[in-house]
Amino acid sequence: MIRQPIITVLGHVDHGKTALLDKIRGTAIAAKEAGGITQHIGATEIPISAIKKICKGLLETLKIKITIPGLLFIDTPGHEAFTNLRARGGSISDLAILVIDIVQGFQPQTIECVEILRKYKVPFIVAANKIDLIDGWQSSHEPFTQNLRNQRDDAVAKLEERIYKIVEELAKYNFNADRFDRVTDFTKQICIVPISAKTGEGIAELLMILTGLAQKYLEDKLKIEVKGPGKGVVLDVKKTLAGIALDVILYDGHIKQGDTIVLAGKQGPIITKIRAILKPKPLSELRESERKFRKIDEAYAAAGIRILAKNIEEALAGSPLIVAKDIDKACKDVQKEIAKIIFNKQNIGAIVKADTLGSLEALTKLLEGVVPIRKADVGNISRADIMEVKSVRAEDPLKAVIFGFNVYVNEDAKKLAEDYKIKIFLSNVIYKLKEDYEKWIEKAKKEEIEKLKATLPAKIKILPGYIFRQSKPAIFGIEVICGTLKPNCYLMRKDGRIVGRLKSMQEHGENIKEAKKGKRVAIAVEGLTIGRQANEGDMLYVFLEDRDISIIEEKLLNMLSDEEKELLNEIKRIKIERV
Ligand code: GDP
Repeated sequence: MIRQPIITVLGHVDHGKTALLDKIRGTAIAAKEAGGITQHIGATEIPISAIKKICKGLLETLKIKITIPGLLFIDTPGHEAFTNLRARGGSISDLAILVIDIVQGFQPQTIECVEILRKYKVPFIVAANKIDLIDGWQSSHEPFTQNLRNQRDDAVAKLEERIYKIVEELAKYNFNADRFDRVTDFTKQICIVPISAKTGEGIAELLMILTGLAQKYLEDKLKIEVKGPGKGVVLDVKKTLAGIALDVILYDGHIKQGDTIVLAGKQGPIITKIRAILKPKPLSELRESERKFRKIDEAYAAAGIRILAKNIEEALAGSPLIVAKDIDKACKDVQKEIAKIIFNKQNIGAIVKADTLGSLEALTKLLEGVVPIRKADVGNISRADIMEVKSVRAEDPLKAVIFGFNVYVNEDAKKLAEDYKIKIFLSNVIYKLKEDYEKWIEKAKKEEIEKLKATLPAKIKILPGYIFRQSKPAIFGIEVICGTLKPNCYLMRKDGRIVGRLKSMQEHGENIKEAKKGKRVAIAVEGLTIGRQANEGDMLYVFLEDRDISIIEEKLLNMLSDEEKELLNEIKRIKIERV
């Protein structure tokens, strides 16, 4: 059987996630299809019959057979855990809608969403929302494509300009995007659908594209064994009138009352029996409330359900949940999953704390390759965390830091952190933690290097066609191929011969103090005559004194990239061969 794809809506605050979900629900209800929409816990299901009606023939233009029963939208935008809900090592979202306010464009949380979608490889489309706010735009209830034909040229031009800005931003993250009606390869390009969650224009196209993408490219993932043991993810652990409850998105198999389930708790796996399964009553009202639930005997994926059971007080939001046929195996499976997220490796590295398993995993993933992580755990930052970081700090102060996402520093830990000057990064925007750390480390490295007064390795290329002056001093354009170039160093050729002293550097006519890899700048070199000691297109190296090399090797090696370390060795070889 093929289940509904699970779709999440994400984006920067106020860009219209809630409004979009409301509009999708409202449009489906207005389509007055038998059954209309089905309310789940934490999710809304739009059956395919309703989608067909809303799309008014648009689906037929896709020329594919539709077998998915509908679309399941996760209802809780802004819920920190929801973007990051893992399942089978990926994300629970089969597809995502990234909502971007077309007037505001990319904002901090938009970037965070893009980074997370990329890391988890979740296919997504962009809903470029609020097109009704574009100057001169004439809104109507027609689908976007029809409505577009009735617009004035200047309004269309403004829309295109804004879409192009989104295309440009996405390109920074290596995503090739375009307006959906110009996309030719749906596996390689991101569709941008202009919509208004206020007027409803574009909603038909949005639903059509989601349906088409799911049907055409996700069919294998959506095939489930209806009678197989249920697998899900805990969205939330809630206090309810009926006791502590788990809100769960079931993405595979079948679950029933009396089943034994295994999930992750703060102190290890929890094994418990399902006392009751609840679902909202059929749509008498859109918002969920305590009294509107009904008990059901069983549920099939994909579904949003509430589970009542004993001993779930310590359950972790974001945890996997499985129906256990073999309890030992189920515990091992859950433990294996959790061990990837909560760990203590004892290596030199940072401590990462977050409020849920989902956000913890997302943050750890984002920090991959940025800083090694020693310990990752759910909860506030404690005295023990500070002490642990302090104990490894001597070995590598730049890696011994603490990251906290949506958590607090406990009062007693605060004082300790101040006393020991432990660096703590706190934020409720995940990507900001990465950015803050990168800025901090850049500054710390600079200070360290300045203190030691060592010259650093760099390799540059003399750009052909950019010789401004032959000599006294020679002035010419270069590109930094590797390393960081600073004035007052000597430059040498590949054969070790020193050609002159770098006096100054300019970029766009302004003097600059350093140029990093990839930069093209003009430099003035004393003692060099272009055409004699060096020519256009030649490579030059910064000459390092033996003193520089030993300082770098003793104190600064961990601040160099692998490429820079390789360059250091190259410079050492050149010096040895010359001697
Ligand atoms: P969220 O924080 O992303 O869930 O954003 P909301 O859905 O709460 O929307 C934020 C604000 O933008 C609200 O005042 C909405 O009424 C407004 N809004 C959302 N979509 C549109 C739209 O398409 N057009 C206009 N004009 N306003 C919108």
